[in-house]
Amino acid sequence: MLIVALTGGIGSGKSTVARMFKDEGAHLIDFDYLARLVVEPDKPAWREITDYFGPKILSYDRTLNRSALAKIIFSDDKSRKILESFTHPRIFEERDILIKAIIEKDPSSIVIIDFPLLFELGLNKKFDKVILVYVKIDIQLKRIIKRDGLEKEEVERRLDAQILIEEKRSFSDYIVNNEGSLNNTRDQVRNIINELKELAKKKEVESICL
Ligand code: ATP
Repeated sequence: MLIVALTGGIGSGKSTVARMFKDEGAHLIDFDYLARLVVEPDKPAWREITDYFGPKILSYDRTLNRSALAKIIFSDDKSRKILESFTHPRIFEERDILIKAIIEKDPSSIVIIDFPLLFELGLNKKFDKVILVYVKIDIQLKRIIKRDGLEKEEVERRLDAQILIEEKRSFSDYIVNNEGSLNNTRDQVRNIINELKELAKKKEVESICL
């Protein structure tokens, strides 16, 4: 079993690359899915969030109004940290449950965790390997504006809240350059998964020898 974090700036192509790893046989855990799961109405994190931020961050159906919340946290660091203190412990609990279930079925599997804020949270050392999806900032901007229909200034504010992608490069074991075509990205993914499979095999042999 190899537990690998897949990270990168917003709109760099993490979900796109994660899907490619899944196509190559990796097990995928989506951090965003876990993040949504733990804030479903009436779950403990939802209660703490609504108690703290008030009803203005709720939609008519009692789910969190994500864009209202995003506006608050992207302009206020303290609010972001408080929100994370409500959600992160629950997200890691859910993640560990999923990893346990995967290990039971397939002990030599490669688990890729799509983890957007890995470096911001200083959790990179908790993984066997870190893969960074890289695109230059101007491409990041263009793709997010096109995908989400946001104003340039709003996207720039969101990018400011993250560690620069250039800084993340030096802390990563593998870099997928996603500036080119999807086919080009897929080729890089195939090379990396082959290396990861070799590492997973070695790790299994070592654990048997110990
Ligand atoms: P977020 O951080 O917001 O969750 P993300 O990092 O998961 O985003 P994606 O949603 O995978 O990024 O990609 C952002 C946008 O760029 C999407 O519209 C996607 O279709 C597009 N995209 C991804 N890779 C490429 C590529 N190689 N060429 C062209 N468009 C791409």
